[in-house]
Parts: sequence; C-alpha cells; structure tokens
Amino acid sequence: MGEPMRVLIVEDESALREQIANALADQDWAADGSGDGAEGLYLAREFPFDVAVVDLGLPGLPGLDLIRTLRAEDNALPILVLTARGRWQERVEGLEAGADDYLVKPFHMEELVARLRALTRRAAGSGSDRLVAGPLTLDTTAQSVTVAERPCELTAYEYQLLEYLVRHAGQVVSKQVLADWLYPHDEDRDSNVIEVLLGRLRRKLDPDGQLKPIETLRGRGYRFTLQDNGER
Ligand code: CA
Repeated sequence: MGEPMRVLIVEDESALREQIANALADQDWAADGSGDGAEGLYLAREFPFDVAVVDLGLPGLPGLDLIRTLRAEDNALPILVLTARGRWQERVEGLEAGADDYLVKPFHMEELVARLRALTRRAAGSGSDRLVAGPLTLDTTAQSVTVAERPCELTAYEYQLLEYLVRHAGQVVSKQVLADWLYPHDEDRDSNVIEVLLGRLRRKLDPDGQLKPIETLRGRGYRFTLQDNGER
C-alpha cells in the first residue's frame, strides 16, 4: 500500500475516538484526533490527511458546518461521517454537506477500516481495464473516469455507483438494489442517500445537461442510457 495513511478523527466521545485510533494503528495507519469541531477544522486545514472520520454532533463547531466549510474552501479531503442510529436524515444531510460516505453507530471497526480504504483507494496503475460507454471511459483499476477525455473527479462511492450502472446499461435498476449493493452492512439503509449520490454524479458527469447519461424512471429506478461498448 506504500505510505501509511493519515487519518483525522473528529469525535467527542473520547472512548470511541481512542477505539478508532487503536483500530487504525493495527493497520499501521497514523491517526490524529480531536473532540472539538473547531479544532478538527483547524487540523484538516493545516495537515495533509488522507481521509477524515467526522462525528456530526460536536462541541465547538457542528460536524456539518465543519464539512461545509472545508468544501467551500475547495478542500477535497475524503470524509466519512458518523451518524446516530435511527436518524436517517443525518446521512442525507452529511452527504449533501459534502461528505463522501457515512457509517451508522454503533459499527464494527473492520467495517470502518474497509470504508476508509474504499475512500482512499486509488490504484497506482491505470489503463489496464477499461469500460467505455459513449464519451465516458472508466478505468476500473484506478477507479477513474473521463468524459470526452476530460478527467472527472468522483468519490469512491460515486465511482462505484457509476460502474454498476454502466455494467447494467439499458436496464432499469431500482434505488433499493443500488442501496443494497453500495451499503450491504447498513440494515436500515435509506434510498434517499442514493438520490443524493446520483444527483452529484449527474452534475459531475454532465455539468451542462447535454449528455443525460442517467435516466430516472419514476417509481421504478434509474437507467444508464449511453451505449456500453464493453471492455477495452
Ligand atoms: Ca458526538
């Protein structure tokens, strides 16, 4: 994996913060933590982290404000938010604020590590496995996308959503199927999250609204409309 990952943990429950730091240390990852939102924002601005874990309920500065502030400053640090069980709207709010993924408390440390790995996964090699659909080219090794040769920056989950749709081009895929596939361990997962991710994906792939790569079929789901030209 090369360099050890540097993870920022912003969580005010100190026992949980320590538990996370220990789990990351087991992976030989370096972690810095804070229990205060304002201090977390300072750390995120000043130090080169690879990924951040951010609780939403924080003293100093709420987690959502921390995320919005970083995104308003064009800070692209991958962020996973921790949300409370049963408060599904927190997940949507977190993603809308600019978080890349969420995890519902309580969670298994293995799950957290897997999610953080997914958020930072950028394989060194590229060009070996490609999927082409209309002007889109997906590099399935590097998990990167170009639209008419222009690089398109997607988060890990946006990429996975797109690859699933491209591999099922022409088929109607329901929100539930996408939610089950993206979040297999979240038992009360919510399909509103899929709407938020799809909205972001559409804006990134098709900022001018010319291409319309993903069709919404009311009450049924989504369909990727560009022709899948297969693996290259
Ligand atoms: Ca909290």
